[in-house]
Amino acid sequence: MSFTHKILLAMAGGIVVGLALGAYEGVPLVDDLVVGGLLSIVGRLFIALLQMMVVPLVLVSLVCGVTSLGNVTALGRLGLTTLALYLTTTAVALTLVLTLAVAVGPGEGFQILEDVVYEPAAAPSVVDVIARIVPSNPVRALADGEMLQIIVFALLLGFAISVSGEAGRRVARLFEDLNEVVTRLVMLVVRTAPVGVFALVARTFATEGLELFKPLAGYALVVIAGLVLQAIFVYSLLLRAAGLSPMPFFAKSRALMAFAFGTSSSNATIPVTLETLERRHGVSGAVASFTVPLGATVNMDGTAIMQGAATVFIANVYGIDLSLGDFVTVVLMATLASIGTAGVPSAGLVMLAMVLQQIGLPVEGIALIIGVDRLLDMLRTAVNVTGDCAVTCVVARRERAIDLDVYADRGAGADPAPAPAAGPPRASVE
Ligand code: ASP
Repeated sequence: MSFTHKILLAMAGGIVVGLALGAYEGVPLVDDLVVGGLLSIVGRLFIALLQMMVVPLVLVSLVCGVTSLGNVTALGRLGLTTLALYLTTTAVALTLVLTLAVAVGPGEGFQILEDVVYEPAAAPSVVDVIARIVPSNPVRALADGEMLQIIVFALLLGFAISVSGEAGRRVARLFEDLNEVVTRLVMLVVRTAPVGVFALVARTFATEGLELFKPLAGYALVVIAGLVLQAIFVYSLLLRAAGLSPMPFFAKSRALMAFAFGTSSSNATIPVTLETLERRHGVSGAVASFTVPLGATVNMDGTAIMQGAATVFIANVYGIDLSLGDFVTVVLMATLASIGTAGVPSAGLVMLAMVLQQIGLPVEGIALIIGVDRLLDMLRTAVNVTGDCAVTCVVARRERAIDLDVYADRGAGADPAPAPAAGPPRASVE
């Protein structure tokens, strides 16, 4: 059985076992020992293992990426194209889901049975997000896992290494060796994924239960339809426009999507996203090491889809009419909000508060959808990560930094075998 099949089986098994365990809710043996004990321990250990590697991997691989790119012009072009594509795909996602939500009208006739309360957590302002991009203390940025700050620090460090002559070459070699070692560590952890994904999915489905969906079926369906359309149509068109066939892309991204589904965190999935892009899709490490950590923070198409659907749902429940201007505001605000949203579970809800406030909708409305958010978070994270991958492939194609034979080969990098000792040379951007 291939690794992808193992992961997909783990996910499906997790859903079935989770729902079965949910039926025995209240039985102490099931609640405390299995769901709250065993599944919780295994799931949390797995997430911790993934998170453990994110900061070292991003720092080391990004420094290597910059030193192998070699020049600032290539980096600037790469940065601008990536950012433009990330923001465009998010704006398209929002336009798509808003159109869908207006057509379906989720929340019309919805009865609010109890008083709902929602205390919005403080969302950072756009000014704060931009002003905090440069870390005053890189060690703190690394310790706190501040992705944008780590990216800026790694870019500057990589640049300084490239212009430091012989000393720079020595440091670059050290980083290349470290990169080899950290990549090997990632491969080791990825091997445990079937168990980890099973535990995470089973625990969520055991505790969340599907009956929560019934009153919110309209809302959940709009979100799910939006996610599916974005993944299947928008990303396919994007890949086709760049001359890449979508088929091998989706076939080889399934395990990654299952990972994102299990962890609900684009950040925790970074090691696997990088691995998938480099080994399975043939993208050069120089490009992926830059676009992936950036995408995990900045590109949230799935989250934007949830926010668009939630805005229309809440407006309908409260009987508030949205004007065309409101819709435009939602597209702009949610696209900007996605830049500041961290790739961690439920981060999208915090930013939703900001979008609702902007167009004068009651923030308490969030309390209505919170019940189904855990499961929708899993699905939208899978789309967030797929979006990062699709854009990366397109950017890499433009930069001639993708091996098209590897991209087309469905079997490429199928098993997370340890990297060869010497490691393949990192392709560079022309
Ligand atoms: N969980 C999402 C992610 O990590 C963010 C969110 O929508 O809550 O990509």
